Amino acid sequence: MSLAFGDVGVLQVQTSTIDFRKFLMSETRDTVILGSGCSGLTAAIYTARAGLKPLVLEGHEPGGQLSITTLVENFPGWPEGIQGPELIDNMRKQAQRFGAEFQTAHLNAADLHAHPFRLSTSIGEIHTRTLIVSSGASARWLGLESEQKLIGHGVSSCATCDGFFFRGLEIAVVGGGDSAMEEALFLTRFATKVTILHRREHFRASKIMLDRAIAHPQIELRTNVIIEEVLGVEEKEVKGVRLKNVANGEEEILPVSGVFLGIGHEPNAKMFHGQIDLDSDGYILTQNNVFTTRNGIVVPGVYASGDVQDRRYRQAITAAGTGCMAALEVEKFLEEHGR
Ligand code: NAP
Repeated sequence: MSLAFGDVGVLQVQTSTIDFRKFLMSETRDTVILGSGCSGLTAAIYTARAGLKPLVLEGHEPGGQLSITTLVENFPGWPEGIQGPELIDNMRKQAQRFGAEFQTAHLNAADLHAHPFRLSTSIGEIHTRTLIVSSGASARWLGLESEQKLIGHGVSSCATCDGFFFRGLEIAVVGGGDSAMEEALFLTRFATKVTILHRREHFRASKIMLDRAIAHPQIELRTNVIIEEVLGVEEKEVKGVRLKNVANGEEEILPVSGVFLGIGHEPNAKMFHGQIDLDSDGYILTQNNVFTTRNGIVVPGVYASGDVQDRRYRQAITAAGTGCMAALEVEKFLEEHGR
C-alpha cells in the first residue's frame, strides 16, 4: 500500500502507527542528518544524490572524530593513507556538490512521537519527514576534579589539536586502546618522552598499534596505574600526575607537563532519551544496523548510523557503511510514502 504525503490518513507501518496529516507542511524537510562526521557525510552524499536536499546539522565537533585524527591507513582506496581532516573535507565537498545543505546548530530536544518530527535546535525549530542520527561519540574524561580544572591548561583529549604546545616537554597519555597508542605515537613528534598509563595489565589496542608504541624509543608503557590527581591546579598548568599502582597500592608522582586522555568516547544521544531506545551506556539501539526503536518497536523514518549506535566496530568505514544504509532507508521510506 502506498500513501502520498498529501493524503489525509493513518498508515500502518510495521507495528507502529503514523498519522500523515502533518506531512502537509510545506517547510518540512525530506531529511535531516544530525552530525557531520564520516557517517553523517556519507548519508548526506547518498541522500543529496537522490535529490532529497538533506539538511546536515553540525554541532561543536564538525567533521567528527576523523577531523581530529591524523593518518588514516585503513580506509579503502588510499594505499598510502589519508589525513583524517582531508578525508572529511573531501566527503563534505562531495555532499555539497549534490546539494547537501550544512548548518551549525545544537539539538536541544527532539519530538519523534508525531510526524513531521520536530527538532528544537539553537537555530529554531526544524520539521522533517525523516531523521538520520549520526551524532557520533565524544571523548571521555576521567572525571577527576583536578583534571576538569586543567582542561586547556595541559589536559587535553585531542593530540592533533594540542600536541604542538608540548614541544620539548614530557607528557602522559591515559588509556590502553588504539586511541591511546595513536595519540602517544603522534605526540612523539613534539614531546621528548611520552608515558602511556594504563589501568590494567593487558592492552586493548590492536597488535600493530601496540607493537609500534612498544618499539618507539620515546614511549614508555606503564601498566596497572591510575591517575588519582592531576597536579598544578593552583599554578593553572599541569605539573605532574599522582599515580597509584593498583597492583600493590604504591603511590608516586610522575612529573609531566601534559596529560592526554585516550580512554574512549561517550555516545551523543542523551537528547533522544525517551524518544528512541538507548542501551545502558547511552548508545542508540538499532535493528538491522540502522532502524531505531521505541520500546522495541521500529520507529519509521528515524535511523541511526555510525558511532552513536555502534559500540562494536567504531571504524570510519563501518560508520560510512551505516550512513549509506540509513540514507537508502530514508529514500525507500519516502518513496514508499509517495515522495
Ligand atoms: P577503547 O578501545 O574502548 O579503549 C579505551 C581504553 O581506555 C581502554 O584501554 C580502557 O581500559 C581505558 N579506559 C576507559 N575508561 C577509563 C578510565 N576511566 N580510566 C582509565 N582508563 C580507562 O577506545 P579507543 O581506543 O578510543 O578505540 C575505539 C575504537 O576505535 C576501537 O575499535 C579502535 O580499534 C578504533 N581506533 C582505531 C584506530 C586506528 O586503527 N588507527 C585509532 C583509534 C581508534 P580497559 O582496557 O581497562 O577497559
